[in-house]
Amino acid sequence: MTNRWNKSDTLVDDTHYMKQALLEAQKAGERGEVPVGAVVVCKERIIARAHNLTETLTDVTAHAEMQAITAAAATLGGKYLNECTLYVTVEPCVMCAGAIAWAQMGRLVFGAEDEKRGYRRYAPQALHPKTIVVKGILAEESAALMKEFFAAKRR
Ligand SMILES: [Zn+2]
Repeated sequence: MTNRWNKSDTLVDDTHYMKQALLEAQKAGERGEVPVGAVVVCKERIIARAHNLTETLTDVTAHAEMQAITAAAATLGGKYLNECTLYVTVEPCVMCAGAIAWAQMGRLVFGAEDEKRGYRRYAPQALHPKTIVVKGILAEESAALMKEFFAAKRR
């Protein structure tokens, strides 16, 4: 399989789509959810937008990535997302890394690293071996949203 993502303009695109994920994260924060947002892009089109809904749905599995994967598969009418990119503002947890693997995601792009709950600490091999990982896109903005949220909670 040829990899059409290895273009020199991907960084610009990645920043653009990560901004959309950040908008989703902001929406989550505004409704009292931990501010994590995600979008799924397939053939230069956003096919799913989602944010963390664990409080709203009273469901610990309602992470932004889980919502986005479910929505993307519904839009595409197929469960495999090997031609898609998942953008998420914060490094996925182990559960989401598993879901990303099951979906055979083509690319994973995340913003801020999560040293406490991120998959790379516990399960660095959890992703599908073919999934391309890019990290650090708008990392500061993504981390700042989380910091503000938890600082406001403590007040
Ligand atoms: Zn997760």
